[in-house]
Amino acid sequence: MPPAVPDSAPGVARGTFNRGEAMKRLVDDEFDVLVIGGGITGAGVALDAASRGLRTALVERSDFATGTSSKSSKMVHGGIRYLQQRDFRLVYESLHERQRLLENAPHLVSPLPFLIPLFGRNGVVQKNVARAYSVALWLYDVTGGWRIGKRHRRVGAAEALSHLPTLRTDRLVAGFWYYDAWADDARLTLSIVRTAALDHGAVAVNYTEVDGLLRDSSGRVRGARVRALPLAATVPSPTNPTGPSSSTGPTSPTNPTGPSSSTGPTSPTSLTSPTSQTGSSSPASPTGAFEVRARVVVNATGVWADDVRALDEERHPHSLRPAKGIHVTVPRSKLPADIAAVIPVPKDRRSIFVVPWADGEDVYIGTTDTAWDGPLDDPACLPEDVDYLIGAVNGSVSDPLSRDDVTGLWAGLRPLLAPSGGHHLSERTADLSRRHSVRSSAGGLVTVTGGKLTTYRRMAEDTVDEVVRLLGSAAPSGLRRCRTPRLRLRGAEGLAALLEPRAARAHGLDEDVFSALVRRHGSETPAVLELASGRPDLLQPLVPGLAQLRVEAIWAAREEMAVTLDDVLSRRTRSSIRRAAATGEAAGDVAELLAGEWGRSSTEVASEAKAFAEQVLGELDRAGLGAGSSAERRSAQPGRTT
Ligand SMILES: Cc1cc2nc3c(=O)[nH]c(=O)nc-3n(C[C@H](O)[C@H](O)[C@H](O)COP(=O)(O)OP(=O)(O)OC[C@H]3O[C@@H](n4cnc5c(N)ncnc54)[C@H](O)[C@@H]3O)c2cc1C
Repeated sequence: MPPAVPDSAPGVARGTFNRGEAMKRLVDDEFDVLVIGGGITGAGVALDAASRGLRTALVERSDFATGTSSKSSKMVHGGIRYLQQRDFRLVYESLHERQRLLENAPHLVSPLPFLIPLFGRNGVVQKNVARAYSVALWLYDVTGGWRIGKRHRRVGAAEALSHLPTLRTDRLVAGFWYYDAWADDARLTLSIVRTAALDHGAVAVNYTEVDGLLRDSSGRVRGARVRALPLAATVPSPTNPTGPSSSTGPTSPTNPTGPSSSTGPTSPTSLTSPTSQTGSSSPASPTGAFEVRARVVVNATGVWADDVRALDEERHPHSLRPAKGIHVTVPRSKLPADIAAVIPVPKDRRSIFVVPWADGEDVYIGTTDTAWDGPLDDPACLPEDVDYLIGAVNGSVSDPLSRDDVTGLWAGLRPLLAPSGGHHLSERTADLSRRHSVRSSAGGLVTVTGGKLTTYRRMAEDTVDEVVRLLGSAAPSGLRRCRTPRLRLRGAEGLAALLEPRAARAHGLDEDVFSALVRRHGSETPAVLELASGRPDLLQPLVPGLAQLRVEAIWAAREEMAVTLDDVLSRRTRSSIRRAAATGEAAGDVAELLAGEWGRSSTEVASEAKAFAEQVLGELDRAGLGAGSSAERRSAQPGRTT
């Protein structure tokens, strides 16, 4: 066995995040750990394992974070409502992790003030309501909320209104103010993957799907069969009647059958109906399949975890209970808010969040929590979901929202653990635990399920502890200690200097534009801007009305393994979930910008842009919102700001 990867010096890139190179290593190398799934859990496991010195690979069948990890409410939080469920341990653990994230990724994770408005009649709040919140927030502080440096406090109606001016003055009496934290989930996930790859030598590749497991002669899982999937969805054309194209597909593995193994794996068992989330459903060509050898395989596939377990256990375990949650974006002019708010849902025991996007003139509202029995790849936002959110907000504001105000949306599935005893559809998913579980099968497949975005690091630590246990003497004792509690993510070092006003001036940029860039790229910001040197056109917005710049698309293609328009417009930037119609309109332009980066022809990118725009507008249609909301059309008019 080759020696394990030694420790890395912080800030020095010692691995690769180039897709072609990573693909070659995936085929050629042998690993201690292969992680299946590039959501935040798999990313966290890869970083934990690689930073302990284990030779680590990660494969993701779509783009990093395409699953639930780009569809969350984006809170890095303890979750006050889990106190109501008396899950004090979860809250304590989450608040501890919140603090670690604020320290390890200060560019990506920032404190966010929250307001809980208190409504009542004739200027009086029901005593039991006020007391319940007061006790919950006090408990939140003592469970670890105080670590953020500020405790909760009660505020008057005037102060509440100064932050959310359209709250109903006839009912608003007072409010509570407390702090949590916020992160762009997809960018956080990406940053964890890049840190694992660039700083700790992990090999990570998107659009690679596991469709079978390799076993040695004793039946132990020793790797996986992986298929390289087509990269771009395209619309059917006379020359490409099937639609999805793989002509520019992933770098062909140099040795599709994989290296021979001393452990002598047998033929993999296959997933019955693997599908891609890129909008492409055609299988990769047979030459796209290859084998990845690893001593231990980790299944971190979120709501798909049972499908991967079925490859190992040969029966579907039905251990998860997916719960759908949707969010909608509306212009801040329609729902003015400069802090987040917790809004009670009339006639429901739940609350929803209203959260301002930090770098723009819009806010999002979420979320729903409903059991989902439909296809895991397609948790649609439906008209009734949108109406639920709008109805909830309208119960608390004087300037009601309508469906026409929605400019973007997203839907995701929580990978909740089913209550023991199986699949109880009658139980409210909101009441199910957000704890995680790590288990290993008789064949040695380690599966991590459940949990939260906030607790990903802890989940990863528990998972890699199990991997190390399974590796036994093959894992040198010096490598067993988890290093992630204090491991800073890429872009965190050297941040302070970039947050000073003169840094923006030095780059000739407006302070707000520059600081928003730093919040996305941390100390890599100068390297991003370097790509725009001599190209002022690249400092223009990528999508009109949004803060992200054209140069960030180039950076995404070169340095962040973005290989499709959807990668760039939905996850590297969050344009499509904020301004769907404007993003659809800009897709052709963005495709042209990136054609050269991706080595694609104008025809190919035009076709991809058309397919992407259709997909984005189709999602609006399914939610009953038509082809772009009227608010977005109004805001797109020249000279008008939302
Ligand atoms: C509506 C909603 C709101 C939420 N809000 C919050 C919040 O505010 N704060 C918080 O802490 N948590 C929140 N969560 C929970 C959090 O988002 C999830 O716990 C977390 O993102 C799950 O990450 P994951 O990596 O386990 O799963 P995923 O992100 O789904 O990743 C699994 C990955 O595995 C890949 N995959 C599947 N099969 C294969 C295969 N065969 N081969 C290769 N790859 C495969 C998938 O493509 C996918 O990318 C929310 C969840 C939802 C749905």
